[in-house]
This record gives sequence, structure tokens and C-alpha cells, in this order.
Amino acid sequence: MKSIDEIRPLIRKAALLNAVKHEGRADTGAVIGRVLAERPDLKNMVKELASACAHTVREINALSKSDQKRIVDSEWPELLHEEKEEERKRLPPLPNADSYSLIVTRFAPNPDCVLHLGSTRAIVLCHEYAHTYHGKFILRLEDTDPRLKKPKLEFYELIAEDVLWLGCKWDEKVIQSDRLEIYYECAEKLLGMGGAYVCTCELEGFRALALSSKACPDRELEPSEHMARWEKMLSGAYTEKQALVRVKTDLHHPNPAVRDWPALRIIDTEKFPHPRVGSKYRVWPLYNMACGVDDHMLGISHIIRGKEHLTNEVRQRFMYQSLGWRYPETLHYGRLKVIGAELSKSKIMKLVEDREVTGFDDPRLATLSALRRRGIRPEALREVVMEIGPRPVDASLSWENIYAINRKMIDDKANRFFFLKDPVSLSIDGVERDYTSTPPLHPDHPDRGRRRLEVKSSNGKAVVLIASDDALALSNGKLIRLMELFNVCISSVERNRLEARFISESYEDARKRDAQLIQWLPSQGNIDVGLLMPTGANVEGIGESSLSEASADAMVQLVRIGFARIDHKSKDRVQAIYAHN
Ligand SMILES: [Zn+2]
Repeated sequence: MKSIDEIRPLIRKAALLNAVKHEGRADTGAVIGRVLAERPDLKNMVKELASACAHTVREINALSKSDQKRIVDSEWPELLHEEKEEERKRLPPLPNADSYSLIVTRFAPNPDCVLHLGSTRAIVLCHEYAHTYHGKFILRLEDTDPRLKKPKLEFYELIAEDVLWLGCKWDEKVIQSDRLEIYYECAEKLLGMGGAYVCTCELEGFRALALSSKACPDRELEPSEHMARWEKMLSGAYTEKQALVRVKTDLHHPNPAVRDWPALRIIDTEKFPHPRVGSKYRVWPLYNMACGVDDHMLGISHIIRGKEHLTNEVRQRFMYQSLGWRYPETLHYGRLKVIGAELSKSKIMKLVEDREVTGFDDPRLATLSALRRRGIRPEALREVVMEIGPRPVDASLSWENIYAINRKMIDDKANRFFFLKDPVSLSIDGVERDYTSTPPLHPDHPDRGRRRLEVKSSNGKAVVLIASDDALALSNGKLIRLMELFNVCISSVERNRLEARFISESYEDARKRDAQLIQWLPSQGNIDVGLLMPTGANVEGIGESSLSEASADAMVQLVRIGFARIDHKSKDRVQAIYAHN
């Protein structure tokens, strides 16, 4: 007979390594897996193994991170090294990293909406690369369009919150509306050297010229004239659309959209005040100007972004060339489609504005705040991104991919509870005594304590509640096991009169007879539970009383339903949000 004692050293080693790998918190499930991988012969004593692992994990997790690391370093230095290598190898190396003294990356959202699933790739990759190379990660808020892509103050905050939630703390935060003078200075430099000009054409007229590779009449005027026009733009002598700074490019560039692109324009900020700087400025840089200037000024070494920006690189390179700047290295990754998720900012904004959803964190949306509310772990999103990496090919992702990773991360933490949607009574004959069922809060963690479900016998009868969906599937003569209680045989499925008779207590018996397992609740003492689904429907039901002890924000597993996050609670009601099964 094997004894658990003989494998304790193996468990300890697995727990320590796992803890060091995961921020000081070893995961019991992972430790069991590791031990079984090395000792498959222990599969027949998995229960003892699980409890020994849970015990050891508790001990190891109680150590400080530095203590854990010290032990691993001294006892198995080669293993830790291996793990680190494995981590590092996950992302391909950055191009030309050696030619930069500091690797600097940036995530640059426009604060005109909250972040959604589609943004995680840029955030995680930029942060991860900066971290890997001991470089710098910049969060840059690109808010230079107070008219069409109007920023809103709340989004500056919400975006920062989302980025922090993903575990991607920035080293520096930059807001473009603080930097107008910098863009002006670069504009003046370009105008003065003939790398840009103030165009006064009507847009349609300019387009027609550009399409036929012809210069607009303004293009060849002296720089002094352009400087004078620039002053007029700043002073208000021109109104909106009367004048525009364009960066000179190759008029014969194969892509007409690249030809002499617009760099700065006038916005009537009396009419369209900027949420941060009001009407202080009336000349605003367009995307390529602000982004291009900042990438250089902030010392960005590697731009990591979607391939829809490829043309922007082409445009910006003309400006870089005029100014004698070196263009950063670029990694353009392919499109990532998430099946069944709406990732259009304008559609998300419209749904919220039209009150089709309850807010940006409505579980029907794929915003980061909605995912957070449902209990999707940021580590799971990071993991998803790390698996896809910065590949240039298009990829698609399903919710199931995300759920599968998340499930692994929360399963060990989520305590188990019974929840019944739309409960109905089942009265049982032949119950000769009272029963108290005390299933553990978590099967792998008996130390967390037990729940308590009581069934009173009265004249040989007892009543329990079951979910109406389960009741509908019952038929006379069917054997079911009320989980963690006893086995009964259905004797009547009449409307409003669901009856059964007691058969036996043993789980073995239920298993042998292939009885269906059904969760149940005592007829009294339960609490109301709302379960908000990703469809937006709020499923009303009841849950066992111990659910009221789960704290707000905790993940729970509603047995046979799925994982959910406790959103908020009151004395006799819990509101949960469904994550996934
Ligand atoms: Zn012109």
C-alpha cells in the first residue's frame, strides 16, 4: 500500500514551483496535476492526494513570495531557470531590439469610449514586451479630435482602470491635449523647411488634384507665406475648413490616400469645446501628426499595433524623413475576430446611449468592464493574448476559448452552492428521520468549511425544492439522487403534485443504478438569488442560505448551472452575474 507520506516531498516541490510561477499563489489543481503527471500510479488514491496537496498548498501560500523563491532557488535552481526560459520564449523577440538603449512601447487609445476585448491585445503585448526587455510602457490618451471623435472625461478614468485591471501598469501616462505646443512646434519646423504647407483648397478640389498626382496651387509657395498663413490659422483669421496644414509626400505615391496627408486643422472650439482644455486651442493635430510626433518625442522604440495602421506608417515616414527622425520598429498584427462579440466602438456607444443596455458594464457587451463584472479574470485575457501573440495573420477567437482558460483559473477559488431557478416542491414518502447534509464549500478544499442543508421528516414525509426545469424532465419510476442527500424514485409527476419515495442513502447505490444527480434545497430558509445572464435576462431563483456568506465580488459555482460572480447583495438577496459553465 502506497502512503501519502512517501510523496510529500514531491507535492512540496510542485507547490513551491507553482507558487513561484504564479505570484506566490500555488493552485491546488495545478499541483495535483503535476504530481499525477510524475506519478500516474497515484490515480487510484486521488482523494488522499487532493487533500494532501490542498494542505501543502495552504502552507506554501502562507510563505512570503521571497521565501518561496529562496527555497526554490536553493533546492532546485535549474528548474526555476527552465520555467523562466519557457515564459520568455512565448513571444517572438522584438526586431532590432539591440539597437535601442531602452525598449519603449505605448498603448494609445482615444478616450471616446471604454475599452473592449479587442483592445487587450495591444495593451498586453505592449506591456509584456516592455516588461520582458526591462523597458518602458506608456499609456497615451489620444484626444485631439474634440469634434468627431469627441473624448469624454469619464473615459480617461475608465480606460486607466481597465488597463490597471489587466495588470498592465504604465510607467508613464501622456495625454495629447496637454501637448499641443509640441505639435505646433513640429508643424512650424516642417512649414519652415518646406516639409509641410498650409492648403486653402476646398476638400473636393484637393482630392481631385491628388487623385491625378497634381500639386495644389499652395504647395509651391514660399515657406514664409505658409508661416504667415499658419499664424492666421492660430489667430482665428481663418475659419474651419478654410485652411489646413498638409505634410508633403510623394504626389505619385501609388496610394492616393497617402498623398499630402492632412496634419493640422481648425476646429471651432467655441462650438465644440474640448473636455479638458475647453476653447484654449483652435488648431488641432490630426491622427498621424499627433501620433507620429509623439512616437518620436516619447522615444517609442517599437510600435505594436494592428495592421490597419500600415498606411499610417507610410504616411508618417514622410514626416519623419523631413524632420530627420528615425522611424520606430513596427509590429503590425493581424485582425482578431471574436466570434459573437460586438467590437465596434460606435455600436457600443449607440447601444449605451439608446439605453438598449444598462451601461458600459452590461454583460451583453464585450467591454472590459462587462467581462470584469462577469468574473472573467484579467489573467485569462492575458493568457489568450499571449497564445495568439503578435502574428500578422488574421485570427479568430471564440468565447469558448476564453471561458476554457478562465475556468481553469477560477475553478479552484469558486465555492459551490445550490441554486434553483423557479423552484417547485417535491414531497417524499418514507423519510423516517431528519437529515442534515453538509457538503464542503469546495470539494478540493475541505478546510474552507461546509454548507448545511436540513431536511425535516414529519410523519415519514419530507419536502424539498427542485428546479422547475429538472422537474419537467422527470417521469414516473425515474430514479434520482438529490445531491449529497439521498436517492428517491419519482412516483407522481402530476401538475402541482410532484411526489417521490425514499429509496436509499448511498451514493454508490445511485451510481450503480445510474440515477440522475439533481441539486435541491430545503423547503425553507433559502435566499432569493438573481442571476444576470450574458443575454441580459435576469433569471430569478433561490439559493441556499450559506450563499449569503459569500462576499461581494467572489466567484461561485452554482452547481449544474455554471460559474458566476457575486455582483452585490443585501440581507436576503444575492445578485450574481453568470460567467460561463
Ligand atoms: Zn491647396
